[in-house]
Amino acid sequence: MTVISIKDRIDAIRARQAPLTQADARAEHEAFMASFGATLTAGLKLKRVMQKRGLRRARAKCPRCGFETLQGALVGRRDHLRMWCDTPDCPMEMME
Ligand SMILES: [Zn+2]
Repeated sequence: MTVISIKDRIDAIRARQAPLTQADARAEHEAFMASFGATLTAGLKLKRVMQKRGLRRARAKCPRCGFETLQGALVGRRDHLRMWCDTPDCPMEMME
């Protein structure tokens, strides 16, 4: 899975110091959506596995940084997912 870093993409656009074109805006949007989609997919997968195994807390391999530092917690009666990665600067984070 290729994950586009939206921060890198935005930094590259800003570094040119040119006005934002429509193509830039579209690229930013696509990078954001890809990043968001990857996080959402990982979150839903983690939640499904945790519910299946009856876990309230879990640790898993982070699909973004590749380390075993992804943490998940199911909170409240409705199993709201909190997911975050302990690797410094890894943007993987989600609250449902
Ligand atoms: Zn990570």
